[in-house]
Amino acid sequence: MTDRPTLTTTAGAPVPDNQNSITAGPRGGLMIQDYQLIEKLAHQNRERIPERVVHAKGWGAFGTLTITGDISRYTKAKCLQPGASTPMLARFSTVAGELGAADHERDVRGFALKFYTEDGNWDLVGNNTPVFFVRDPYKFPDFIHTQKRHPKTNMRSSTAMWDFWSLSPESLHQVTILMSDRGLPIDPMHMNGYGSHTYSLWNGNGERFWVKFHFKTQQGHKHYVNQEAETIIGRTREGYQEALFGTIENGQFPTWKVQVQVMTEAQAQQTSYNPFDLTKVWPHSEFPPIDIGTMELNRNAENYFAEIEQAAFSPSNIVPGISHSPDKMLQARIFSYADAHRYRLGTHYEQIPVNKPKCPVHHYNRDGQMNTYGGILSGNPDAYYEPNSVNGPVEEPSAKEPPLKIEGEMGRFNHRDGNDDYGQVRALFNLFDAGEKSRLFSNIAAAMGGVPGHIVERQLAHFKLVHPDYEAGVRTALKSAHGYEADTISAKATAAE
Ligand code: NDP
Repeated sequence: MTDRPTLTTTAGAPVPDNQNSITAGPRGGLMIQDYQLIEKLAHQNRERIPERVVHAKGWGAFGTLTITGDISRYTKAKCLQPGASTPMLARFSTVAGELGAADHERDVRGFALKFYTEDGNWDLVGNNTPVFFVRDPYKFPDFIHTQKRHPKTNMRSSTAMWDFWSLSPESLHQVTILMSDRGLPIDPMHMNGYGSHTYSLWNGNGERFWVKFHFKTQQGHKHYVNQEAETIIGRTREGYQEALFGTIENGQFPTWKVQVQVMTEAQAQQTSYNPFDLTKVWPHSEFPPIDIGTMELNRNAENYFAEIEQAAFSPSNIVPGISHSPDKMLQARIFSYADAHRYRLGTHYEQIPVNKPKCPVHHYNRDGQMNTYGGILSGNPDAYYEPNSVNGPVEEPSAKEPPLKIEGEMGRFNHRDGNDDYGQVRALFNLFDAGEKSRLFSNIAAAMGGVPGHIVERQLAHFKLVHPDYEAGVRTALKSAHGYEADTISAKATAAE
């Protein structure tokens, strides 16, 4: 007799023997009727789902969003009212590496948040930087191709990265942050998060305001230089998982101060930059951050695969009082994130417990992969179409957001025309002290190893437009790292472009 649970098949039948196959005699001849063995092997074959095309390697934990500030004049969102406390999930990630990549690689970090509000799930799928490499979604798949493996060599290509970046000056802001100290945080707790995109808030009077979300680490910023990261990767490829999991397991709960920047619709007409451009920040002096609360992570997942690998974040998940903006990258992500989850998790991926809202869910979508509701998604088996006379779920007009004012003719507008890709990078460069500048130069030089001269010169020309010291610093670092001498033919051609 034992008080341990009985091992069963997935159908619940007791398993008599988990050590010995059914064979014709002790010397072998497997019997296909050993369905327990077949089930076990078949399950093993199916233990993997497609890894995310981007942000494959991640680390996550659960926590709480607590609102202490008062922005009720801007939003009716219940989860943003003073005193609100909302359970949440965070998943941090690198962008380019695959599922088995080392954690301590220089890369942008994903900072994806899911808030389980009483009005449905609100997801904020940002990064640890306030900007991004591209501003038009046409360029996103191309950009990601440059970060992934070359189709022939199956290796990552510095040439492809710098070729693309040097031909896309809107990337300069993000490239500068990536190559600065903040491009290599020591772990997920010691970095900020940003919603990055411009979203909107709307209140009960039908007024809309544009908003940026910021999550400021209360652990302080801490970064490694490349050589320190190389040493750590030599010891462990899972440094972020060890740090985040271990810290929370030890009862030390990391926190972030939550802030918003708010812009009126009228102000958005006046800014010198496009406030919906993902390569730009809103300067703090113009739009001061407002403290609204704290995010704390305080619980590890019980099962990493079920709760973190299957976590599905999408900017399409908004709740009344919070909405989108004309940011083109955001609009594209509203489609592509939910689409990625339908592909890798199944049509009804929001029925997986980690993705399931903690409020009642009623809709008329029907069958398909992962439907575990048993066919009564509307809450009433006769209500499988709408409109109906059988008391099926109906719309809630108070959830209707104010109309989005859109002006202008429809067309394809050159997003690089008249766009200043250098001013905000200069503001950042001027914030760096001498040590930060020197590390920026050497990180760029290290990343440019093996890149052809004409591409290097094209990129150096962009650095020069930010600040002559930026170009000169990188050029000196290139000479010391690789013996690089000015490619005068390419430099002349670049200057003439
Ligand atoms: P401010 O001087 O008012 O703000 C500077 C902000 O830059 C800081 O609050 C901090 O953001 C961030 N910052 C400070 N030091 C560094 C550093 N060494 N590396 C990276 N970021 C740093 O000026 P602006 O608001 O006009 O911004 C100037 C530049 O700072 C921008 O062009 C942008 O590159 C960068 N920045 C701006 C942010 C914004 O939302 N305005 C946010 C982050 C960076 P934080 O408090 O978020 O850590």
